[in-house]
Amino acid sequence: MNQAAETRLANLRASPRCGARNRAGRPCDCPAVRGRARCRLHGGLSHGAPKGRANGKYKDGYFTAEAVAERRWAKSLAAGFAEIGKDG
Ligand SMILES: [Zn+2]
Repeated sequence: MNQAAETRLANLRASPRCGARNRAGRPCDCPAVRGRARCRLHGGLSHGAPKGRANGKYKDGYFTAEAVAERRWAKSLAAGFAEIGKDG
C-alpha cells in the first residue's frame, strides 16, 4: 500500500462518527454525514421537524425558534466570557 492510500485511510478513520445509540446501547460509529453529527441512517440527511405553530411544542414558548436562538446566543456569550476569564 502506498503512502497516499494510507493517509487517505487514516483520514477516513478520523472522520466524525455518528453518536446515535444502537440497540445494544452503544454509539452507532458510522461516519457522520458531512457537517452533521449523525450518519445517513440516523437522521443525518433529515431537515428536522417541520416548523411552525402546528408542529411544535408551543405550550409556553420555550422551544420557539426565537427562544432557542436567544438561549444559544446567551450560551455563546457565557462561553466567550469564560474564555476571557481563563487568560486573566
Ligand atoms: Zn448512525
